[in-house]
Amino acid sequence: MVQSAVLGFPRIGAQRELKKVTEAYWSGKATVEELFKVGKELREKNWKLQKEAGVDIIPSNDFSFYDQVLDHSLIFNVIPERYSKYNLPAIDTLFAMGRGLQRPATETSSAVDVTALEMVKWFDSNYHYVRPTFSKNVEFKLNSTKPVDEFLEAKALGIHTRPVLVGPVSYLYLGKADKDNLDLEPVTLLEKLLPVYAELLAKLKEAGADTVQIDEPVLVLDLPAEVQSAYKTAYEYLASETAPKLFLTTYFGDVRPNIDAIKGLPVAGVHADFVRVPEQLDDVVAALSPSQILSVGIVNGRNIWKTNFANAIEFVNSAVAKVGAERVIVATSSSLLHTPVTLASEKKIPAEIKDWFSFATQKLAEVVTIAKAVTDGVGSVSEELATNAKSILARETSSITNDAAVRERVGKITEDQARRKSPFAVRLAAQKKALGIPLFPTTTIGSFPQTKDIRIFRNKFTKGEITAEEYEKFIEKEIENVVQFQEEVGLDVLVHGEPERNDMVQYFGEKLNGFVFTTNGWVQSYGSRYVRPPIVVGDVSRPGPMTVKESKFAQSITKKPMKGMLTGPVTCLRWSFPRDDISSKLQAQQLALALRDEVQDLEAAGVYVIQVDEPAIREGLPLRAGAERDDYVKWAVESFRLATSGVEDSTQIHSHFCYSDLDPNHIKALDADVVSIEFSKKDDAKYIQEFSEYPNHIGLGLFDIHSPRVPAKEEFVSRIADILKVYPQENLWVNPDCGLKTRGWTETRASLQNMVDAAKEFRAKY
Ligand code: GLN
Ligand code: ZN
Repeated sequence: MVQSAVLGFPRIGAQRELKKVTEAYWSGKATVEELFKVGKELREKNWKLQKEAGVDIIPSNDFSFYDQVLDHSLIFNVIPERYSKYNLPAIDTLFAMGRGLQRPATETSSAVDVTALEMVKWFDSNYHYVRPTFSKNVEFKLNSTKPVDEFLEAKALGIHTRPVLVGPVSYLYLGKADKDNLDLEPVTLLEKLLPVYAELLAKLKEAGADTVQIDEPVLVLDLPAEVQSAYKTAYEYLASETAPKLFLTTYFGDVRPNIDAIKGLPVAGVHADFVRVPEQLDDVVAALSPSQILSVGIVNGRNIWKTNFANAIEFVNSAVAKVGAERVIVATSSSLLHTPVTLASEKKIPAEIKDWFSFATQKLAEVVTIAKAVTDGVGSVSEELATNAKSILARETSSITNDAAVRERVGKITEDQARRKSPFAVRLAAQKKALGIPLFPTTTIGSFPQTKDIRIFRNKFTKGEITAEEYEKFIEKEIENVVQFQEEVGLDVLVHGEPERNDMVQYFGEKLNGFVFTTNGWVQSYGSRYVRPPIVVGDVSRPGPMTVKESKFAQSITKKPMKGMLTGPVTCLRWSFPRDDISSKLQAQQLALALRDEVQDLEAAGVYVIQVDEPAIREGLPLRAGAERDDYVKWAVESFRLATSGVEDSTQIHSHFCYSDLDPNHIKALDADVVSIEFSKKDDAKYIQEFSEYPNHIGLGLFDIHSPRVPAKEEFVSRIADILKVYPQENLWVNPDCGLKTRGWTETRASLQNMVDAAKEFRAKY
């Protein structure tokens, strides 16, 4: 019998229960008991859902109150002293590491002031994990039995689960050295860490776990030789009488270049992502010993399209032909964490289009059906197959997906369109004349706090409870307030604050042809931050201006330069669920043309500084070096340049990047006049150096916008001074890490004031 398996299920709840209770807990409105209760209910619901769907192998320990990688740091006691010294309850230490904590002393507790750990994109997804950070005195020990507790919790419900752990090599390799310990290569800690893993595995076995899913996703990266060889060390150590069987899982890419590292490991089986890389089947099979099981990741954990059953069954059957049915498992390609919980609550998507989708809950039935078809023959699920074939065909032949005018315009794109008129030096001179921007110019990244008021008004407008005029008035008032605030604080290049935007991608998707939206299709981005990615269903075009009204109004009420604010083509695409029937390049070109028109309209409306955000450009980078990556860089860069090059020399193009390891070369290739990059958590000389050869102007983010913590003016001064040791003063901008929409006004005002005062101090000196 071919079994079905799920690698992980979304933990946020169909109604975002996890977000609601976590945020209530943070603001003191919910107790820790309430927090834990909701967590428990969500786990129970998810297990039962999977059980009822007929899934054979159901995960546990895929739940987390913040991030599953951060959970492992707590479990293994990888807690830098700056957090542990407060002796907070474990859950508060977890949140402090995830999001920072600043709180005044009370009668019973001392003051806390600590920044968050670094947060990084999870491979090429839009999920962020909290990077394990190894300080000098890290002392591994089993600090929590979360995986065991959750296994037992499911067991008590009569559900036998397969606990999920991040494997030791991936855990270390995804981490970094702490500032007190910069020479450390985390992977060298392996031998010290392994006994603690072994202890945890033994406890899981004692609790009754027969198999553990051990995620080693770094196997899809280009690994240095010492990391490849760490696999043998790690798994020979961990596989033992006292441990459950280990099921090695990889996802999001190609394991072939590391196949030798997998071969011969004492694991029960190997999972690979065949949605991404079907070509790896033969090599993965060849790497297995005759007793090892192959888990075939065939239901996409990263996108929302219905699985094509006919193709999937054929693929799994080809695997069965190679290794036999008793050695095959049908599985989701990765955890379903990256997909919305259920399609059931979507009432607004047109029926014709909704029929093309499958969210996490629907994907459960997909794995089960495919496994059944392979086990009992297609006749056993003929009805499901017929319905599926109908949906697949309907999408392939639908008129919604194809727009001849858009295809024609893309066909006529020239290289010239993607080049500014003059080189940077010439543009800079024109911009200096036109804009009158001082030395150490201060600016923000775009959004200002999105207060409850704003969300309430936007909701009312969406629901038709207030008129367009009333809404517009409200937005204008918000813009006025934000502009006035920025003038008071003394910022140099202002923004309108984005009060009209729910989300930097959704907002544009809603104004463009070719997208559809969910009402409840939330996906976790990090911690309690969830996004509702738009879905690209057809060719993209712009029916009319998208942001001109707000930016023009904002410019009309200030003498300072106003920065127009757009989301770049690659980010629009990456933070949506893209089409899988045409290339990403073609989708990016369509978006670029739409944005190009918007950039030109902004310029014509008197907005001469325009920021086109591309925070997602790095995460789209194919995980391995080679032709595919080179090709991506080429089309991603070209689409940004196509969107931004239609303006005069005197118009200043900005761009912004955050939350991933950026490659200065890619950013350089965009030829933006000014870039701002997330930086506040990379506070050491090595990182400051990284972008120092950037030829145009640059702002290294000076404070963490994910945390309510307010840096003092002296802190800004010392950071700028550090940066100035390496960067020419005339190139430097002064700005926060990212948009301020998740922050409150109190800390925003204080932080920006300190930042501006620090900039003024330098301006007076030079
Ligand atoms: N302009 C956006 C904002 O300020 C940028 C957000 C981002 O880069 N994630 O909200
Ligand atoms: Zn950002």
